[in-house]
Amino acid sequence: MGFSESVSEKALLDCGRSCCLCHKFCGFKIELHHIVQKAEGGPDTYENCIPLCLDCHAEVKAYNPKHPKGRKYTESELRQHRDRWYEKVSHKIFVSGNPDYIELDRKLFRRIREILPSQGGSISFMRKHSYGVPFPSNSHDDLRSYLDQCKDPDFEFINSDLETRKSQLTINIQEFHRVLLYAAYSSDDLPCHLAIEPGMKRFTGGSNYARYLQGVEKAETAATQVCEAYDELIRFGRRNLALD
Ligand SMILES: [Zn+2]
Repeated sequence: MGFSESVSEKALLDCGRSCCLCHKFCGFKIELHHIVQKAEGGPDTYENCIPLCLDCHAEVKAYNPKHPKGRKYTESELRQHRDRWYEKVSHKIFVSGNPDYIELDRKLFRRIREILPSQGGSISFMRKHSYGVPFPSNSHDDLRSYLDQCKDPDFEFINSDLETRKSQLTINIQEFHRVLLYAAYSSDDLPCHLAIEPGMKRFTGGSNYARYLQGVEKAETAATQVCEAYDELIRFGRRNLALD
């Protein structure tokens, strides 16, 4: 037996079908996790349930106490994440009409557009660039600054619909960064026959052409996903915060 129909429904409504850990909107790609595992006597109750996206669920479940790697989410930590997120979702209606909160969200929205402008920064670069050819090493610097800002506690929207969209953008930027880190090299790291101008980077699989193509394809997919999440946040933000 898993969670009953009524427990599942209440949990899914309360989280707005967004993950309680990373806050991205999941739609039907959401799972209900037992905070105290069933094997350890955890009940099928609302209190013991936390909705998670597939990625966060896999991560939470993957922790193996016999071979500890990193730090496990404790039960109370999971509950606190969940309760804070439920509260944010339930305050949405109250918050969305409150001018003080709207002003706070406007401020953050403007800050994000300053860090990541739609023109002249990495967003417009990613829209145009074909990652099969070299690119300047500094062409994605503003993504790095964005990720740095994410660590600030005030870098969070009060409105959960905005926060969900921002979280999706953050996740996609992190993914793009991972691809760059693993498959793109600067001139210093490359052998002579692959050399490029200083200050540039390129994808390469060394002598493995298939690996090169794979890296390029991953970068282009990840770049498209960053731009899509960015567009969604900007469109939604402009409509809901009445900004130009
Ligand atoms: Zn998640």
